[in-house]
Amino acid sequence: MDCFSCVRTARIGTLPPREVVGVDGHWRVAHAFDTSLPGWLVLVPRRHVTSVAELTDAEAAGLGPWLVGLSRALRAVTGCAKTYVVQLAEKEGFAHVHFHVVPRMPDLPPERRGPGVFGFLGLPEDRRVSDERQDALALALRAALGPA
Ligand SMILES: [Zn+2]
Repeated sequence: MDCFSCVRTARIGTLPPREVVGVDGHWRVAHAFDTSLPGWLVLVPRRHVTSVAELTDAEAAGLGPWLVGLSRALRAVTGCAKTYVVQLAEKEGFAHVHFHVVPRMPDLPPERRGPGVFGFLGLPEDRRVSDERQDALALALRAALGPA
């Protein structure tokens, strides 16, 4: 299996907090692994789906509450002014539908606003948010999300 999301979802019981910020029967939330922006989250369906149009009604019903709940949790934990929500799924190995839920910080420089925020993604290891920091953020976000 070469799908980044499905490989991880298959090991859901053994994943670190940063890979399971939140979970229910249809969706899993992870901290983006290759970002320098603390709190950049990715919401993925647990089933392999490559188009939003393929989501079931049950999956769709959870989508809105997840996007809003994660946005509220990010506001509480990171102090972001709002969130960006983006779904593209174009990169090789990342065709699995994934919604980026990105904290838009109050001091984000103008050139990083809008699509420019993707300059914080796809970074080499030495520029990424550390695993330890991602795990700590994940636990704080879980607490902010409240019981599933
Ligand atoms: Zn997949």
